[in-house]
Amino acid sequence: MNPVERVVQAFADHFDGRPAFIVQAPGRVNLIGEHTDYNDGFCLPMAIDRATWIALRPRDGTVSVQALDMNDALTFGLDALPRDTAAWGRYVTGVAWALQENGYTLSGWEGVLRGDVPIGSGLSSSAALELAVARAFAAVSGFAWDARRMAQIGQQTENRWLGLQTGIMDQLISANGVAGHALLMDCRALSLSPVPLPPGTAVVVMDTKTPRGLVNSAYNQRRAECERAAEVLGVPALRDASPADLERAADRLDAVVFRRARHVITENERTLRAAGAMGAGDADELGRLMNASHDSLRDDYEVTSHTLDTMVNSARRQGGCLGARMTGAGFGGCAIALVREADVAPFMANVAREYEQSTHLTPDLFVARPAAGAGLVEPAA
Ligand code: ADP
Ligand code: MG
Repeated sequence: MNPVERVVQAFADHFDGRPAFIVQAPGRVNLIGEHTDYNDGFCLPMAIDRATWIALRPRDGTVSVQALDMNDALTFGLDALPRDTAAWGRYVTGVAWALQENGYTLSGWEGVLRGDVPIGSGLSSSAALELAVARAFAAVSGFAWDARRMAQIGQQTENRWLGLQTGIMDQLISANGVAGHALLMDCRALSLSPVPLPPGTAVVVMDTKTPRGLVNSAYNQRRAECERAAEVLGVPALRDASPADLERAADRLDAVVFRRARHVITENERTLRAAGAMGAGDADELGRLMNASHDSLRDDYEVTSHTLDTMVNSARRQGGCLGARMTGAGFGGCAIALVREADVAPFMANVAREYEQSTHLTPDLFVARPAAGAGLVEPAA
């Protein structure tokens, strides 16, 4: 059964009959431009062919969801959103809260939810869940789907309902993905320009299968360091500083803050160059920039981990690998490699073997194809 058939079947098992709507929202990988989104900078993510699906039908002012991956269920009234739900449920109540805060009038629904984005691996299963829930509310409540606003609803859910300091990248790409393309994202203007994946290449996701332990505290610390650097440089955000500005301010910056700023400022440049390389079909240049991005995240931003570095080093040794880097916030989770199509099968086998030999962990490697953003799905015939 494909994922759509599976949610339709699960809907029939739990609620009887057929769903009125099926919605989906994808996970993502970021090709380059890491830790730049909260600095008003540039990133280059693509939505992937792994998603969260919800099969649903309208009901009174109540939402009732079966989360198949959690083997758990949640029912709540839209006029009294509970705070004390399981962690996954807070994403559902949070989207309802954010929509209502923004003036949307919501109808209730009942449905089943499941996904195949690895959870907690840095491929943004959380944004996929938020956008799928928002799409479900749009379907039953009859409001127009505004992808950019819905991305902001997802971010508000994380920032203000869950209390997580996260940027806009994940939600914006899950809402706006374009099949076959990554999107150059300007995180200040919230503008998006599609750029095609270089012909004859594939993006291989390499899940280290290590949890992102330090991620929340380290993330908040990095954000504070970036704000400090921007303050000393006298710019609204690091997006507004050039490498020359940074050099001029070097003796006024703490050494660690200097390196954090150097990562962000050079990463913005690499990301713009990567989009140019993709537009020109230059896979080699894209790969080189991805390598430089990882090295900067390892040495200046210090958000890689032993397992991420091991995976990336193994990937870079293989024939047909044009570049490899961590993706997402870091400290574990996933890396990605840009690999020539013809070399993908031996690449995956060799990296999996080498990684397992040196870490005694079994990684998960798969090809991620650039996919479309959140939307309604035609039910399987
Ligand atoms: P990620 O990198 O995958 O976005 P996060 O920690 O940000 O990791 O979000 C993961 C959380 O999102 C899970 O712990 C769970 O609460 C929720 N979640 C994601 N996908 C699902 C799903 N398919 N079903 C239920 N909850 C999910
Ligand atoms: Mg997330």
